[in-house]
Amino acid sequence: MLTVYVALGANLASPKAQLDQACQALKALASDGRVSVSPYYQSAPMGDVPQPDYLNAVACFTTTLAPLALLDALQAIENQQGRIRQVRWGARTLDLDLLLYGDWQLDVPRLKVPHYGMKSRSFVLIPLSDLAPTLILPCGTQLSSLITEELKRQVQQLGPDH
Ligand code: ATP
Ligand code: MG
Ligand code: MG
Repeated sequence: MLTVYVALGANLASPKAQLDQACQALKALASDGRVSVSPYYQSAPMGDVPQPDYLNAVACFTTTLAPLALLDALQAIENQQGRIRQVRWGARTLDLDLLLYGDWQLDVPRLKVPHYGMKSRSFVLIPLSDLAPTLILPCGTQLSSLITEELKRQVQQLGPDH
């Protein structure tokens, strides 16, 4: 059984409802049915595709699923919530990226863990640090050393009323 971290992102079809629903669905993948979820953050989209702002969060749970079985399960949840794969970094109802699978480092065609973009993305690092402020990445880097004021400015935490 390992602790895993999953990044959630949504910018279509009521993003907050998409994240809420995804967090519920993730419970089925957790060994004890429990999932810790960070606050939700609003962030500007990456890339050049014009699209609405994103809502992002990070979830943490323990699981007995093997890495590719976990990826299959995450993609099934994306599909259940209407994910359509069109242009890269285009708008989507739900994106679930596996950030960390214990302290494993994996690089196979369908799955690279730690997620290749996680060390530079504010909308991943800030909610991840809410959940696990003292986390050390598999490469030995302390998560806290990656958190800068500039990164914090790039995301806005949603208040409890949203
Ligand atoms: P990005 O990966 O830059 O955040 P994206 O999330 O929009 O972009 P997707 O279309 O969701 O990209 O995924 C493309 C492919 O990435 C998936 O089919 C999956 O096989 C592969 N992939 C590789 N590593 C991971 C990972 N750690 N988590 C999720 N998918 C991954
Ligand atoms: Mg992604
Ligand atoms: Mg993805």
